[in-house]
Amino acid sequence: MPSGSPDVVIIGSGMGGATLAYGIAGSGARIQILERGEVIAPGPDCRDPVAIFAKGVFRPDEEWLDGTGRGFNPGNYYYVGGNSKFYGAVLFRFREQDFEAMEHEGGISPAWPIRYGDLEPYYSAAEQLYQVRGDVAGDPTEPPHSTGYPYPPVPDEQPIAAVRSRLETLGLRPFSLPLAVDIDRWLDGGQTPWDAFPDTNSGKMDAETCSLAEALKHPNVAIETGAEITRLITAPGGRIEAVEYRDRAGDIKRLTPRVVVLSAGAVNSAALLLRSANDDHPTGLANRSDQVGRNFMNHNTSALLSIDLRRVNDCVYQKTIGINDFYLDDGNGGPPLGNVQLLGRVSAPILKANLKRVPSWLVARIARHAIDWYVMSEDLPDPDSRVRIDGASRIVLDWRRSNMAPHRKLVARMRRVLRQAGFPIVLSKQFDRRTPSHQCGTVRFGDDPATSALDPFCRAHDHANLFVVDASFMPSSAAVNPALTVAAQALRTADHLTQTDLAA
Ligand SMILES: Cc1cc2nc3c(=O)[nH]c(=O)nc-3n(C[C@H](O)[C@H](O)[C@H](O)COP(=O)(O)OP(=O)(O)OC[C@H]3O[C@@H](n4cnc5c(N)ncnc54)[C@H](O)[C@@H]3O)c2cc1C
Repeated sequence: MPSGSPDVVIIGSGMGGATLAYGIAGSGARIQILERGEVIAPGPDCRDPVAIFAKGVFRPDEEWLDGTGRGFNPGNYYYVGGNSKFYGAVLFRFREQDFEAMEHEGGISPAWPIRYGDLEPYYSAAEQLYQVRGDVAGDPTEPPHSTGYPYPPVPDEQPIAAVRSRLETLGLRPFSLPLAVDIDRWLDGGQTPWDAFPDTNSGKMDAETCSLAEALKHPNVAIETGAEITRLITAPGGRIEAVEYRDRAGDIKRLTPRVVVLSAGAVNSAALLLRSANDDHPTGLANRSDQVGRNFMNHNTSALLSIDLRRVNDCVYQKTIGINDFYLDDGNGGPPLGNVQLLGRVSAPILKANLKRVPSWLVARIARHAIDWYVMSEDLPDPDSRVRIDGASRIVLDWRRSNMAPHRKLVARMRRVLRQAGFPIVLSKQFDRRTPSHQCGTVRFGDDPATSALDPFCRAHDHANLFVVDASFMPSSAAVNPALTVAAQALRTADHLTQTDLAA
């Protein structure tokens, strides 16, 4: 890229940032991506469950505080490609009803300022970009698609095919999960699942291997890694004048682009806006509404292990079916319960990392006979559930879980279903707050600057040249995985930017 300040600085190369870079690369604008992390190099740790789950070799050397001031090490990943390097690659569209106000047992899930139809073309484009494998016909809650999935579903392994048919016999409608995985390439790199395993261009379609790789083919796009943004600086009138960052050598540098896109993830984007407070914006940037950092959501999730000691689960990857029969209502016309999907295969080393006190022989026995599920319910927005910055500029994540009653009901319902499907033992464990995998909501978009931080194209109401394009923008969390919606909105914002600020 030629020297001088770029036209656009994108902060973060995860699902939001990399997809947006891909979307605006063709505009010819000079685009500089600044990413705090580095590329994950291939190596034995990448397929070693002990290294990943027991030793936590890829986890950050970072401590956040919870609402009581207790420190914890978050499962939030800082690499080129962001959290998508580790994701389960389940790329769901939010359901049509998720864009409307929906009544839950624990309160109202608010309407979005856009409808499903506004995002539909971008969902289709994102599914092509991330090469999603799936079957539009299988899921009873699937919204309309203008384009089918580009590839057929990832095949069930034999024990999963058997469970699928037993669930169907019970009247449920299990469907093939939409997955951004080339299963043959993935298994060529090692006989492991992909969920929570890092991708080294080995068959998982993530922000780095799909969007960033394509964006960097354009000579006007560049990335600097090891570059941690510390502050955004405003000019009188509110425009972002400069982006300040610490480079790999520890030097403080500044860039003065025309447009700034903040895509650091829902916790870090809010934290950066709050840390950038100045005399003109004493409560932080983009925060006239006092919404920045608030409404943190993360889904209510549990692992469920269905065990039948007469059958061995010899799956390698396992993660191919989902159940949405209780997504729009509880199956009897009552309020929604949520989504169920298979986890990546929980082998003995993975289970042992989570059950340290249980003897290894017992862990191995459970793992040999268990099929592992992920049960997910909607977490509703609560202004007191929030990201804050303490006096020493540390991140405080005061997550107030909401809507837990339907989550417990969904776990109980699935217990019954799985027992009927031939699993005499069903164990469950809630995921805890150290796992902010589905973080969202902290810089929400909306039509009204009094109640939202961003407009419906993710432009800050208070700063004409600032966009926040990551999971922060979501006013509700729905109860399906968020990454495709982050990517679709990034492509929508990219189109908007190309037609407005970046138009020739
Ligand atoms: C184990 C795991 C499994 C998951 N499985 C799924 C799944 O199956 N399906 C799904 O839809 N979602 C899944 N998710 C969630 C999904 O990964 C996220 O929703 C998605 O990555 C969010 O995109 P983002 O752009 O908001 O943030 P990220 O993708 O996390 O990107 C943020 C980027 O900003 C960088 N950054 C942060 N702070 C700074 C700074 N100060 N300066 C510069 N750079 C910075 C980070 O290093 C990172 O690259 C999973 C997540 C995890 C952790």
